Amino acid sequence: MARIAVCPGSFDPITYGHLDIIRRGAKVFDMVYVSVMNNSAKNPLFSVEERINLIEAVTKDLSNVKVDEHSGLLVDYAKAVNANAIIRGLRAVSDFEYEMQITSMNRVLNEDIETFFIMTNNQYSFLSSSIVKEVAKYNGDISTLVPPIVEKELHKKYKRLKS
Ligand code: ADP
Repeated sequence: MARIAVCPGSFDPITYGHLDIIRRGAKVFDMVYVSVMNNSAKNPLFSVEERINLIEAVTKDLSNVKVDEHSGLLVDYAKAVNANAIIRGLRAVSDFEYEMQITSMNRVLNEDIETFFIMTNNQYSFLSSSIVKEVAKYNGDISTLVPPIVEKELHKKYKRLKS
């Protein structure tokens, strides 16, 4: 049986922290679907299409990674793409409680789909899309936090939003 995983998230935008998790997941699973959650409640900076394009650009060297989007229940999406695993990243103890709640709920909804946690590289443990956006907004240096193409798009967004 092929080992197929879904790596869900907002990715608004993708950071080196996300990329670290995706790369490590792609080493272990035959196929990884990176799926952007299409959740209108979150008021994102980048559209779903823009987020997908950025993820595709920075994962193009990984032949077993596919980028997609989903709305509705994650377990339903996972089933639709024949995935038997969900990959999530863990940064700090503070992530734990929320992740445990989601994992338990997903298990109630579908006990055949197993959630795997990958602990982030220490150098990214403080990194989140929100923090990157905050720094980019005030024109801070984000070159060590996101790939160059993401950096460029973030600066474009904030210049456009300012005027
Ligand atoms: P969500 O809204 O689902 O939390 P995110 O885009 O913030 O979406 O995160 C998607 C996944 O990537 C989550 O599992 C999150 O823990 C993980 N992640 C985010 N930032 C990092 C990081 N710096 N290191 C490791 N994992 C991360």
